[in-house]
Amino acid sequence: MIQDIYPHELHIGYEYHRSATETDCAVLIQDGKILLDEENHVPTFLQLGISPENATYLFMMDETAYYLIENAVADDHFHFEQPGTFRTVEPRHMGFAGITAVQLANFYHRNRFCSTCGAPLSPRESERVLYCKVCGRTVYPRISPAVIVAVTDGDYIVLTRYAGRAFKRYALVAGYCEVGETPEDTVRREVLEETGLHVKSMRYYKSQPWSFSETLLLGFVATADHLEQIKMDENELSYAMWVHRKDIPDYMGEASLTREMILAFRDGTL
Ligand SMILES: [Zn+2]
Repeated sequence: MIQDIYPHELHIGYEYHRSATETDCAVLIQDGKILLDEENHVPTFLQLGISPENATYLFMMDETAYYLIENAVADDHFHFEQPGTFRTVEPRHMGFAGITAVQLANFYHRNRFCSTCGAPLSPRESERVLYCKVCGRTVYPRISPAVIVAVTDGDYIVLTRYAGRAFKRYALVAGYCEVGETPEDTVRREVLEETGLHVKSMRYYKSQPWSFSETLLLGFVATADHLEQIKMDENELSYAMWVHRKDIPDYMGEASLTREMILAFRDGTL
């Protein structure tokens, strides 16, 4: 999965006063795209030839810190890319650092002013939060919990495809947690809404931070009766079928929780 980067390590703890050095990375976002070097990596201050002063600390990947900057004059060795490029950037820990930086950069860019009273928001020294000195409103980075559910029965698993999306590979039942729900409630509701199936039991599998959609994905394995007729939600899905594990296709692609769960079921290890 995207966070499986051992022996590399993400240090996300907040350090308001950490001073940047020229070998740290400078994150510049413009029009939703991020500035990268020729290897599709986030450039260092040294590469860009700019001073690391007054940059906003984001996190460290191993010994390299990432800082948000607001401006840079970059030459032909640099280009702006859509954040989706980090799905395939190698080495993998650089891609994970890149998309994590994008999510945090968006948090700072989208919360310059208080949405209640309009006053400018300020960072706190003690934790990663933006707050309003006028009305006291606080804003934390947005992380939306969602579930991914492998609905299984013996040798069968429910595979789906989303309707109306470019993403055409097989998926699993998935959906966001609503207000007032536990993730277990979400599992039961989403399985029923998307497939018409009734969950008999479930267990937690693993989780995955997914900064592409500012989501925290919670993987569950649920059991249902494969003789029960699937009633697909045609607004959400273009495909939903019980598939025998021997008929699961080679599902190559990005290092996602969905992919890991489908392959683990095929191989009998889910
Ligand atoms: Zn305010």
